[in-house]
Amino acid sequence: MPKGKVVIISGPSGAGKTTLVRRVLEASTLPLELSVSVTTRPARPGEVDGKDYHFWTDDAFQAGRANGSFLECFEVFGRGYWYGTLRSEVADRMNAGRWVVLEIDVQGMQEVLKAHPDAVTFFVRPDSLDTLRQRLEDRGTETPESLSRRLEVAAHEWNFRDKYHYEIINNNLDEAVAQMIRILSESAE
Ligand code: 5GP
Repeated sequence: MPKGKVVIISGPSGAGKTTLVRRVLEASTLPLELSVSVTTRPARPGEVDGKDYHFWTDDAFQAGRANGSFLECFEVFGRGYWYGTLRSEVADRMNAGRWVVLEIDVQGMQEVLKAHPDAVTFFVRPDSLDTLRQRLEDRGTETPESLSRRLEVAAHEWNFRDKYHYEIINNNLDEAVAQMIRILSESAE
């Protein structure tokens, strides 16, 4: 059986990454499975432990770091919390021919590429930072302070977009889904 692949997806929050990834997982005929990351941040309302993230204490996280449980882990820029990918989420699935999808930041991407140089990497973004600002404003969930903080973090992440194999401009969700599926199918050949 051919070994599976690692697929990495990054991009600023508000770019619609999570919805895009969910749609790609539903629609693709490839054996894609989402890796569930560990984080030290508290769960948001509606988030489920073990499904959205594994929510760990700081102590548990640092113990995991010390004993080599993580394929990669970082304090993600602008969040003030640790995030990491467990080796156990990736290795067995790849050996079983599955494709493991990681939604991680740029530091994580660079680290995972060292172990899996044939990983396929995507940066998902709206067409401009102005569009991102508009989306966040329209959502109405941000205070002026949290809006400017989010945009600052997004601008930082934006600078790394040329480190990825593919950029997906997510202005039209259906087109973005189709584009990602096409690229993944091509990389399976
Ligand atoms: P949020 O707290 O909004 O769920 O996620 C913030 C950011 O953390 C995501 O956009 C993603 O880039 C990053 N992230 C999530 N999980 C991981 C992980 O396992 N490793 C790394 N390096 N970054 C992650």
